Amino acid sequence: MLEDIKILLVEDERKIADSLKKGLEENTYHVEVAYDGLMGKKLFQTGSFDLVILDVNLPGMNGYDLCKEIRAQNEQVPVIMLTALSALDDKIEGFDAGADDYVVKPFDFKELLVRIRALMKRLRQVVPAGNTLQIGDLSMNLDSKEVIRDGKSITLTAKEFQLLEYLVKNKGRVVSRADIALNVWDIDFDTKTNVIDVYVTFLRKKLDRDFPNKLIHTQVGMGYILKEL
Ligand code: CA
Repeated sequence: MLEDIKILLVEDERKIADSLKKGLEENTYHVEVAYDGLMGKKLFQTGSFDLVILDVNLPGMNGYDLCKEIRAQNEQVPVIMLTALSALDDKIEGFDAGADDYVVKPFDFKELLVRIRALMKRLRQVVPAGNTLQIGDLSMNLDSKEVIRDGKSITLTAKEFQLLEYLVKNKGRVVSRADIALNVWDIDFDTKTNVIDVYVTFLRKKLDRDFPNKLIHTQVGMGYILKEL
């Protein structure tokens, strides 16, 4: 038996919204619909939802901004973005805003169901064992100092661990070298030192080199960002 899963659907095209709601309810999901971004934000704040489906082009507040608002309140709830746009930039913007998945309109309803099930399954697998931070297939336990990526244990030095912790806590956000210097090394950033770049290189070797999906990204002229692409 499926447990009660409550979905917030934010979609301004009533025909699409109503047929999605009907289809999802036939698949045992509970659905609440908001027809604009502001209403979506309000509903999200008042209800506890297990998953959010967001159209990108919405009156009131667009889907990206709404997604950021939702992420500011809740890092865990899966968010699927719906859009008519298929350009890569839009996809990246959606992920930058904190979306977990992305479906391009017109889409097959079954495809959406598959994505929903995959996200709900992933959510159940994330066992918040003690004091754990997570991004994608990487988890770090702040108590035991264990770092695991895709089931493999990764050994980090104390400083590497602190740097990773800072990046994971700021995932999806560009952090400057000055931010890192202040928060990880507790020093004012000195442009003569390349210690931060050196440590980022160490982390990349340990965390990203053997995996196809890179988590650490350089934002030229700005700093670093930890995210799933
Ligand atoms: Ca729309």
